[in-house]
Amino acid sequence: MAETYYDILGVSRNATQEEIKKAYRKLARKYHPDLNPGNKEAEEKFKKISEAYAVLSDPEKRKQYDTLGHDAFTSSGQGYDFSNMNFENFRTTFEDFDIFKDIFEDLFGRASTNGKRRTTSSYAQKGEDLYYTVQIPFRDVIFGNTIELSVNRLKNCDVCKGKGGERSVCGVCGGKGTVRQGSGFFSISTTCPQCKGEGEIVYKPCEKCGGKGRFYVSERIKVKIPAGVDNNSKIRVPGKGNDGINGGPSGDLYIVTKVIPHEVYKREGDNLYVNVDIDMFEAALGEKITVPTPYGAVNINIPAGTQPGQKFRIRGKGVPHLKGGGNGDLYIVINVKIPAVAIESDRNVLKEMKKRYHITDREKLLAKGRL
Ligand SMILES: [Zn+2]
Ligand SMILES: [Zn+2]
Repeated sequence: MAETYYDILGVSRNATQEEIKKAYRKLARKYHPDLNPGNKEAEEKFKKISEAYAVLSDPEKRKQYDTLGHDAFTSSGQGYDFSNMNFENFRTTFEDFDIFKDIFEDLFGRASTNGKRRTTSSYAQKGEDLYYTVQIPFRDVIFGNTIELSVNRLKNCDVCKGKGGERSVCGVCGGKGTVRQGSGFFSISTTCPQCKGEGEIVYKPCEKCGGKGRFYVSERIKVKIPAGVDNNSKIRVPGKGNDGINGGPSGDLYIVTKVIPHEVYKREGDNLYVNVDIDMFEAALGEKITVPTPYGAVNINIPAGTQPGQKFRIRGKGVPHLKGGGNGDLYIVINVKIPAVAIESDRNVLKEMKKRYHITDREKLLAKGRL
């Protein structure tokens, strides 16, 4: 069984919101990648606790999570999946979420988190990339599809054009975005506390966006799902991430696909496997049978003497290659069903046959098995 979000945060199922926050803060202090540079394990751990916290800190989501249970909730796509996200994207996307913002500010102070984002005083910046996980039915894997989804993205304010209001050069740093502290040999350069590295300040904040320059809008976006996608395929939708900061280009939207497993078709790479039952008479005599493929049923000849587990390949009836150039194959995997024969006359026929078809030789096995 998977670890529950409560386990991950080390709190009980009836923990209060305050206890959950406290637990997350404590773990974030331990695993935040800024405090563990280059430590992949800490980063993974940090993403996991953040995923847990994003759900449990939201009373609505927590309720759904408690009702559905961990596996059903996470596979329903209602939670968050940060695992494919690199940390920079995670940071820039989720720092703007209030639940993380006050904790990160608490840990590092407002200036230092912003300083990470704005390292130069020319602050036009590309918008953050966004990642959305989408469940894909198996049919779309075979034929492709165009889906439409709602994406929450930061859009430039139409009133101030993303500038946040009327701007002027920062008086503290003179537009450089950094200030020096200490003197002589030991002086260090730090992000300007006034403009947070931008080199400019908003002296008259825009009334519509409150000076932020961007706000979240929900946008319906059409995305073409190409045939051949697999679990964790990433489909890039250029320019549909967050709008850029101060005239910078927009980030991209990435659709991360999760394929819903199919009852009949098991996938390995671009090949498909289908289990087919035949009875022992068909296996012994040979038979023409009809089998399913995603592109419609086909007939195949099962030769006399077909053995359990034997595979028959049907070329080109597998999954289309994502990058084009044909399809994988489909394999029919034979399972032989054997009846318990009770009617006396039938039993006698089989006994006669057994004498004529001496097809097993266990003597050799016994000999080899003797130590
Ligand atoms: Zn505005
Ligand atoms: Zn400044």
